[in-house]
Amino acid sequence: MADLARPRVVIVGAGFGGLEAAKALAGKPFDVTVIDQHNYHLFQPLLYQVATAGLSPADIASPIRGILSRERNVNVMLGKVSGVDVARREILAEGRRIPFDALILATGAQHAYFGHDDWAAFAPGLKTIDDATYIRRRILLAFEKAETEPDPVERARLLTFVIVGGGPTGVEMAGAIAELANRALAADFRSIDPRSARIVLVEAAPRLLTPFEPSLSEAAKRSLEQLGVDVRLGTAVTACDAQGVSTGKDRIESRTVIWAAGVMASPAGQWLGAEADRAGRAKVAPDLSLPGHPDIFVIGDTALAAGPDGKPLPGVAPVAKQQGKYVAALLIARGEGRVVAPFRYRDFGSLATIGRKRAVAQLGRLRIKGFVAWLLWSVAHIYFLIGFRNRLIVAMNWAWSYVTFQRGTRLITGISGSRMEDMPMPDEKQPPMRGAA
Ligand SMILES: Cc1cc2nc3c(=O)[nH]c(=O)nc-3n(C[C@H](O)[C@H](O)[C@H](O)COP(=O)(O)OP(=O)(O)OC[C@H]3O[C@@H](n4cnc5c(N)ncnc54)[C@H](O)[C@@H]3O)c2cc1C
Repeated sequence: MADLARPRVVIVGAGFGGLEAAKALAGKPFDVTVIDQHNYHLFQPLLYQVATAGLSPADIASPIRGILSRERNVNVMLGKVSGVDVARREILAEGRRIPFDALILATGAQHAYFGHDDWAAFAPGLKTIDDATYIRRRILLAFEKAETEPDPVERARLLTFVIVGGGPTGVEMAGAIAELANRALAADFRSIDPRSARIVLVEAAPRLLTPFEPSLSEAAKRSLEQLGVDVRLGTAVTACDAQGVSTGKDRIESRTVIWAAGVMASPAGQWLGAEADRAGRAKVAPDLSLPGHPDIFVIGDTALAAGPDGKPLPGVAPVAKQQGKYVAALLIARGEGRVVAPFRYRDFGSLATIGRKRAVAQLGRLRIKGFVAWLLWSVAHIYFLIGFRNRLIVAMNWAWSYVTFQRGTRLITGISGSRMEDMPMPDEKQPPMRGAA
């Protein structure tokens, strides 16, 4: 039951930022409502492993109600928010109006195709569980179709995988597809040799992993090349269709193109009529509130907050989590008549993995690459996963595939009753609907 004397805090989005805020407000004198369009919290950093048949969706997602079930002052609502009535201090969701005294918008980001939204049909991006299982289906179907394809040109096209974007997601996808083809699938087929698959990673910038320092970018490139990935730097995609991609004068024929090149903030900034940057991120004050609206906060991938150097903070999970915690602490402090200092991000470093035993890590002044970095990456990801069950299962899964090279979730789902020739390849079926996460 809501206590009329207690401020109502509405949190939109139970991703990294929203969930952290909700947990920090648990047991405090607020009535908290968490609204999300999905009933689960998703650990996006391991989505690429679902897309490449290494993990199951349930290993990296947890029901929001379950996570917050013990928090008596936190109410969970499943629903898609479509706007905010700033003047009346109400959220618009599913035809309802939900009043708030304080609002935290933590609705994340979505794919950006740089003005080429039509490419989405041919080059799905990776943001949700549906995206990951769709990409997994596309990758595994490409091998299945190649096995029975009589035309060598089409077979080569089926066995070519293009990843657009050499940030952490693109690098991780490329390494994982290479290992899938070279190891896990190597003995499974009779007509084709999965090891002959071509994996091409296309990046417009002159190096991979631009947030990392150049020596680590170079190490990541070398590791990918050792796995057989064709890394093309300084190469921008100029066209994309059902048969592949064009990069200026060059053409890469491929039936599986994966988009890891750009993100756009959720439309929360538009709901507020906020000043935003080109990526749609709402500009926030040093305390993460919307300028002129001290009770409305925007955090995580949807917010444009400046770091100590004045540059925008990156769209990564630690930023969202620290911001969620900060806003909760600010609301608690306000309730007690205290003032808190502006938000300050503590950067503990960045990690990216390449395949099953290599990674690069940048931790303060420390630069680590290879197996030690991979161990660090593994421990960090298991530690940050939510729920003991998920941690245990993911750790066991990794240990098992480390020893056996196997990828246990090589399941092609979502095609029941279809004939092989009707199964979705890019020109035959649109990718799943995409929301803002
Ligand atoms: C494939 C991938 C790999 C990544 N790897 C890393 C990594 O290795 N390390 C790292 O630090 N970061 C990584 N990131 C980035 C990181 O996941 C994000 O920075 C982080 O999730 C941002 O947190 P957030 O709370 O802003 O949004 P999210 O965690 O995305 O949460 C947004 C929530 O809002 C909900 N939502 C959105 N719109 C609505 C609506 N209209 N109504 C209701 N609910 C809504 C969504 O369902 C979702 O639950 C990765 C991201 C992706 C996609």
